[in-house]
Amino acid sequence: MKLQQLRTNLPSAASRVIMLPTQRPDTVDRKRGSAGVRDRERIRARDCGLCQECERRGKTALGAAVDHITQLWKGGSDEEDNKELLCVPCHDAKTDRTQARELGAVNYVQKSLDFSEFRNALHAALELHGWA
Ligand SMILES: [Zn+2]
Repeated sequence: MKLQQLRTNLPSAASRVIMLPTQRPDTVDRKRGSAGVRDRERIRARDCGLCQECERRGKTALGAAVDHITQLWKGGSDEEDNKELLCVPCHDAKTDRTQARELGAVNYVQKSLDFSEFRNALHAALELHGWA
């Protein structure tokens, strides 16, 4: 295509370009600042400072992070009934699971350059939850 032709076609081409959203649609207002701190303190107290995922599996672990049960970008709310305290391994495992689901398990494995790292993480998670 000649440069002159490209120049004349460009303005009409621009209008046909599909704009991809630059943000995930988590338009739910997340509590920030002191309201967020108070909210996390309430959840921590409600959950007795313990990881709720470990509790469900009959284990006891100190909770580290307040997590959205259904992520905001998936339409989850920022209310207390959608939040729970998780320990670091459970939070990481949930994040990995979420990513694995989104990427597709096969893609996840393919994208993992170091397979032994993936395998070790899987074994650690199985052991953590008493499935190994
Ligand atoms: Zn846990």
